[in-house]
Amino acid sequence: MLSALALALLAAAAVRGGQLPVVTTSTDLKALVEAVGRERVGVESLAPPLHDPHALEVKPGQLAKLKAAQLLVRIGLDHEPWLTRALRTVSDPRFARESPNYLDTSKGIQLLQAETPRVRADKGTHVHGFGNTHYWLDPENGRPITAAILEALVRLAPGERPYFEANRKRFLDQLEKNVKTWLQTMSPYKGMRVVTVHETWPYFAQRFGLIIVGVVEPTPGVPASPSYLASLIQKMRDSGIRLLLTEPYSDASVVRQVATQSGATAVTLVPSVGGEPEASDYFRLFDLNIKRLSQALAVAR
Ligand SMILES: [Zn+2]
Repeated sequence: MLSALALALLAAAAVRGGQLPVVTTSTDLKALVEAVGRERVGVESLAPPLHDPHALEVKPGQLAKLKAAQLLVRIGLDHEPWLTRALRTVSDPRFARESPNYLDTSKGIQLLQAETPRVRADKGTHVHGFGNTHYWLDPENGRPITAAILEALVRLAPGERPYFEANRKRFLDQLEKNVKTWLQTMSPYKGMRVVTVHETWPYFAQRFGLIIVGVVEPTPGVPASPSYLASLIQKMRDSGIRLLLTEPYSDASVVRQVATQSGATAVTLVPSVGGEPEASDYFRLFDLNIKRLSQALAVAR
């Protein structure tokens, strides 16, 4: 059996001729790997952008891509219960934890909601059991995520370090400029209270000063009971909540019910790169969400 070092050397040899094949579990990670790797990487995302990221049927063609990849980049925690099954099927020691070909980007992240463990008996259900996994939606987390990606790419292609570092620096410079603009756009709405469907937005809300006072889905990934919905709607009416943040794949009839009965306006935000054509990369994802949200907040205020 080849040692980790030998595998890394083989990978380094492979990349010299062309692109390093990378597989990610989300389009957001794909965008961030491309920001650092640019033309030296060929990246495929296992999950499409407009799909509940926690529930995915991995097709044989995707397993083949996973087998062909030199690097697997994932969100980690219990974000992708489907990946465990895919990895079991592929059964490739290169994708074992701690392997140079495996990167879990949650390692460098200060997690939110980590203090409320909600581990359920039925393993394989995504419940944010170790903390909230939607951390890419704080754009400042683009820093630690790309730092981890940089180190992973350098492990596999050590000679390319200066190239990857220059790419990441360019990304961070743009990120800093963009974050300033987004904060400015959102500053009039600091402290505004909203309700969300899934707990997708706590990182985003923390960065941009929104307060999430309730969720339609009290246990992530599990539909709410009618009595829970009734009490949430009452709470929204009593405290004058004007905005309900939804995802493109949220249950439309539940969203309609909560919005109509509470009097709140439903605003669909895009949780992942490529979820709408305008959200074509990591920066455009926030551009679109900030634009849509600030317009809705201006009306709701
Ligand atoms: Zn989630």
